[in-house]
Amino acid sequence: SPLRIGFTGLGHMGGPMAANLVRAGHTVLGFDLVPAALEQAEADGVTVVASAAESATDVDIVVTMLPSGRQVLECYTGEGGLLAAAKPGTLFIDSSTVDVADARAAHEAAAAAGHRSLDAPVSGGVAGAAGGTLTFMVGGSEEAFSDARAVLDVMGGKVVHCGDAGSGQAAKICNNMILGISMIAVSEAFVLGEELGLSHQALFDVASTASGQCWSLTSYCPVPELVPASPANRDYQPGFAAALMAKDLGLAASAAQAGGVAADLGRRAAEVYAAFAEGSGAGKDFSAIIHEVRAGSAD
Ligand code: NAD
Repeated sequence: SPLRIGFTGLGHMGGPMAANLVRAGHTVLGFDLVPAALEQAEADGVTVVASAAESATDVDIVVTMLPSGRQVLECYTGEGGLLAAAKPGTLFIDSSTVDVADARAAHEAAAAAGHRSLDAPVSGGVAGAAGGTLTFMVGGSEEAFSDARAVLDVMGGKVVHCGDAGSGQAAKICNNMILGISMIAVSEAFVLGEELGLSHQALFDVASTASGQCWSLTSYCPVPELVPASPANRDYQPGFAAALMAKDLGLAASAAQAGGVAADLGRRAAEVYAAFAEGSGAGKDFSAIIHEVRAGSAD
């Protein structure tokens, strides 16, 4: 049955996610700080409101899709915040990618205000948001998860309940730590192969069916012409921007440090993507990291 949903953060991801909720027949009250985001949302059938608080007033569910944990906690608990505006028992779903500690703080604040909450970060990028095919990684109670299921299924293709508060964010950063490191590994292997006179095709034919097989190689290959969907085939237009990979690996590295986990390669990968995203990799897909490997190699 149609729900009333408050939605704060109508950017690259939140905009199309909110539009899909409207298309599914729900009433969406949307808010963002940026006028252009509100104009697009209005064109998509979102009911634009004047404040975050108004978007959370008398709704069943509040979704947030914001840049980082700081904005989430601010929107939840700051002056004119979402938690205070919502009726008791409202279900809060934060789909932003944030620090696990911030996610847990958001859950605690929601519970203290008498609400239920989920951390529900996504993968799949802007294309997944537009197509309603995102993967949701969800942390929080079984009961909140089952109540959220209907709306998550509208915005996503795959929805995984990962455990208690913070588990969705934990799954997201652990997955992306594998992805970020493995993309560097594949890039280093291709550049070493070039130096050794090995063709891209030969290395691909061997590694893609041998023990070097991984998603970074067979679905998102950093050299062109081997895999149809690779950003490498379109001059490394994202896809998944290097800056976002740097963000996610930074969250993984700080969680590892806080927990005393010796994730040395994860930390190193965070540094490599951060330097790349701030320099020649600005605006590029993260798989363009192969250029950084080449640039750092002796001729
Ligand atoms: P974005 O910057 O396009 O959108 C964020 C929106 O939040 C902006 O429109 C901004 O104006 C709004 N905002 C910020 N503070 C606000 C406030 N106090 N009140 C109301 N609105 C506010 O970012 P995005 O690409 O949509 O990403 C959103 C989140 O999703 C991030 O946490 C990101 O890490 C994560 N994510 C992004 C992608 C991707 O491919 N873009 C993929 C997976 C996850």
